[in-house]
Amino acid sequence: MASNVVFSNIVVVLWLCSILVMTPAESRRRALEAPQELAQKFSRNPETLSLASTDYGHIVYKTPWAVFEPSSIVDIATLISFSNSLPIPFTIATRGRGHSVLGQTMTRDGVVLNMTHLNDHFTDINNASVSAFSITCLPLGFCYADAGGEQLWTDLLSVTLKLGLTPHALTNYLYLTIGGTISNAGISGRTFRVGPQISNVLELDVITGKGEFVTCSPLINSELFYAVLGGLGQFGVITRARIPLGPAPKRLFWLHLLYTNFTTFSRDQEYLISLNDTIAPDFVDGQVLLSNQDQPDLSSYSTSDQPRVTSLIKQYGIVYVLELVKYYDNNSQSRVEQEVENLVKGLNFLPKFRFKKNASYEEFIDRVHAAELYALRPRGLWDVPHPWLNMFVPSSRIVDFNEGVFKGIILKQNISPGTCLVYPMKRNKWDGRMSAVIPDEDVFYSVNLFHYVSASYNVKDYEAQNQKILEFCKDAGIKIKEYLAGNKTHQQWVEHFGSKWKLFEERKLEFDPKRILSPGQGIFQ
Ligand code: FAD
Repeated sequence: MASNVVFSNIVVVLWLCSILVMTPAESRRRALEAPQELAQKFSRNPETLSLASTDYGHIVYKTPWAVFEPSSIVDIATLISFSNSLPIPFTIATRGRGHSVLGQTMTRDGVVLNMTHLNDHFTDINNASVSAFSITCLPLGFCYADAGGEQLWTDLLSVTLKLGLTPHALTNYLYLTIGGTISNAGISGRTFRVGPQISNVLELDVITGKGEFVTCSPLINSELFYAVLGGLGQFGVITRARIPLGPAPKRLFWLHLLYTNFTTFSRDQEYLISLNDTIAPDFVDGQVLLSNQDQPDLSSYSTSDQPRVTSLIKQYGIVYVLELVKYYDNNSQSRVEQEVENLVKGLNFLPKFRFKKNASYEEFIDRVHAAELYALRPRGLWDVPHPWLNMFVPSSRIVDFNEGVFKGIILKQNISPGTCLVYPMKRNKWDGRMSAVIPDEDVFYSVNLFHYVSASYNVKDYEAQNQKILEFCKDAGIKIKEYLAGNKTHQQWVEHFGSKWKLFEERKLEFDPKRILSPGQGIFQ
């Protein structure tokens, strides 16, 4: 009797050991034993693996064991369920367009789920074929789009604009996937008015980390809905998003107003976003031009104006550009022109440095892509490392931030800054139930340091500068929140989420208990 007990204990211990010593290699071997219909969708082609081993940042490199190329949503659910069924599941890194900058779409030895492969193969969970986008307009004129999570915003727009419609919230750059930006926030100079993209989603289809297909919205399965918005890919794979649409503007007045005094500049920005919607601009952005920028972006000024903008930058070292946009249509042009004049009258920019353009909506929303094609790619500045730093800075400390960071660190250092943006937004446009984290103030600024590494500099210098900026904010008690963050330790992530951490952790346990999804964020691994 006693020896039987000893024997069965030994069997249990041996079984446990066999699980515990299972290596990633063993896990991969089991992946090879996946059902035939799944196994044939793993690609181990060196070129495919190499593409999935990097991202837009070109700073982090991790080679996955395989890339999974789904041709339906069922494939994604089967993949995740299969991983869950293994004693040691393999990790699955969902990849949209890979426009992250710090390895967020990568997994070492796991499987990269290539969402864009679905583009030509979109089928719903019941395998009924549906097109990538469907547009619905209800009788009272309320319209929305249903779009695959793998779709690019620019492709959605090419469908909606033909119908005279547009999503309310767009990013500055549109060659990003819907699932990718919704996993972060999706912001621009329009966020102060309409909120980030994650505040502009009506419903989602998500395949959770348990492999379950769930439709969620503020009314059904709302816990998953809010978890996924800004959820950094941690809780599920977004396969469909329902996005509200409104009438697309036809044309717009686009102004660039220059300042040499930051306090005046930021006061004017905050004044503009405080106005009620009928008179407020439709878009408010801000750019910082610095004398140590190798190639400051002067594309918004005519070639005849560029020399005097350049000499202003040389004279002051730092110049702030307030960008203001007001939409109009055929019937409202003269009225809106007058409204713009009224708006500008109340501002304190340098009177001789006011530039006005009249542009189409399409030209405006495609401006970053145009810069990609005609300025950055030809100069070899697109496919280089991008040591970006993006932050949300509370309004009460933005002047200290300017002194300490723009003037005190970036301007003083001997490395060329990339494009620097700074513009305010409002907390009340963000829903606190979403996973995204923002500062605890009614108004806060998005500060984007879009660095690129050209031949004369190296990544390490920018990384050291970014670190110095974060340390400065910490020491000065400026309670920033990073946006598009990466490369953090577990403890740093806990601090990042702050009071939301407990909820974030509980949601992970509920929707992806085996911690399979998006390991490249480094939050739970
Ligand atoms: P990826 O980088 O592929 O993925 C991002 C994260 O989301 C990863 O963790 C991934 O695992 C997860 N993920 C991807 N797809 C899904 C899905 N379907 N379901 C669940 N999780 C998923 N951001 C802004 O807010 N505003 C801007 O104006 C802006 N401009 C940009 C301009 C450029 C040139 C670049 C490179 C980036 C810009 N970004 C901007 C940042 C951008 O929003 C993020 O980098 C976003 O992650 C990129 O989208 P992607 O489709 O390439 O996602």
